[in-house]
Amino acid sequence: MLSDIQTKEALSLLMDLVSIPSPSGKEGKLAKYIFNWLSERGFKNIKIDKAGNVRARTTEEIPIITYCGHMDTVPGTFPVSLNNGRLFGRGASDAKGPLSAMLYSAYRLMRKGIPVEVLAVVREEMNSEGIKYALRDEPISKFTVFGEPSGVNNVVIGYRGRIEAEVEFYAQSFHASMPWIGRSALQYAIDFIDRLKVYEANFSSRNKTDSVSICVTRMSAGLANNVAPPDARLVLDIRIPAHIKKEKIIEDIRKLCRLTRAPRFRMKVNESVEAASSPNGYLMMAMRRAIFRALGSPAKMVKKTGSGDMNYAIKKGVEALTYGPGDGLTEHSSNESIELEGFFKTINVLTELPMELRHILSEKKI
Ligand SMILES: [Zn+2]
Repeated sequence: MLSDIQTKEALSLLMDLVSIPSPSGKEGKLAKYIFNWLSERGFKNIKIDKAGNVRARTTEEIPIITYCGHMDTVPGTFPVSLNNGRLFGRGASDAKGPLSAMLYSAYRLMRKGIPVEVLAVVREEMNSEGIKYALRDEPISKFTVFGEPSGVNNVVIGYRGRIEAEVEFYAQSFHASMPWIGRSALQYAIDFIDRLKVYEANFSSRNKTDSVSICVTRMSAGLANNVAPPDARLVLDIRIPAHIKKEKIIEDIRKLCRLTRAPRFRMKVNESVEAASSPNGYLMMAMRRAIFRALGSPAKMVKKTGSGDMNYAIKKGVEALTYGPGDGLTEHSSNESIELEGFFKTINVLTELPMELRHILSEKKI
């Protein structure tokens, strides 16, 4: 359990993190704060890498676990406030609550001499450039926990994959006073969106984590107020479940573009990552034990419809899970908040976890 002093220290760390704005791409000030916080407490091998990620270890030994959280938030700040046992502020739950819980438990583990690595990454909300760079720069531990709001008893063991694609249609431009002359690029784009909806329905499932979803997130068209648009551009955010290959979806979307019979189109995949399922290994076993020990109630393994940095680590063979305080209901919203009691409880879970893991590994003689 946390002492009164520890509770105060952990809360002030959380409040500082939430008070420093850090929208994706502008994490520098927060990185510096975390760097200083780690230095003042005697963490080892502290560095800010070229991508802007902060990395440190609790001891000189090889860490048995990595705690990875993201520093960036979606844009838009609003005043930080404490009310009714909740802390309000941009990033409070996604993911400064989980990140602060990781940093503070690592600090407690340092004092017990347990080797843990902490990694605070940039740009998770954008294109996961931070974790991608960190994985290339220096290996993370074979056992890694990613910090996202899962809730104190819940562990996220699966995410859908994601494809971000841009589609652009081109057609002849013509005077808006004679729309019967032909079809504009915008009409082809609208036809394409209709086809997308029909296509998406083929993959619907009662369980949303097993379905494909397609969301048009941006659309632009038009040259002038009196000209039929000669080009129309769409951005698609597509999420895919584990049993479907991303290549198949990309190929199908291209076919749908062709079916519109637009004179010309262009499709570009900006980003793609397969779905990820956490292996049922030693880390999951240790997590179940740590939650039971710290909370006195069993862990619940859940799958989420989103995607996260964990997807990239699992692809590299890392045994990863996602865990952290916050219910995820207010994340990205204008009343984003975190319940403090849950925040303190997850610090206890994350303090138990490496010790349980070490215990399991020594039982198995690994
Ligand atoms: Zn997040």
